[in-house]
Amino acid sequence: MYNTCTILEEARVAYVQCRTGKGNLQGWRHKIGKAENSECRKCGRLAETGKHVALVCTHGEDIGQRWSTWEDMDDRARWAKKEKDEKGFYTVDLVETFFSKIDLR
Ligand SMILES: [Zn+2]
Repeated sequence: MYNTCTILEEARVAYVQCRTGKGNLQGWRHKIGKAENSECRKCGRLAETGKHVALVCTHGEDIGQRWSTWEDMDDRARWAKKEKDEKGFYTVDLVETFFSKIDLR
């Protein structure tokens, strides 16, 4: 089980990398000469760009993808889900959960 801070931080880092198309994305690393190819490390079919990782890659389906556009994803209020545990109700941000499962290291 992760603690909340770790999830938030990892999700934000992954989100920013996908949104800017930079960081550890293979597409970007290839562009700046730090990777031999730009292939996606999850599916190997297309270039690993931010858009590919967040909206296109089949890996997204494995971890619960439901995004068709960035705008769709940006509507955070829409993707807040109420969950309940022994302490009571709490809110889960599905966009954050999605990005916390994307490993771009
Ligand atoms: Zn892929």
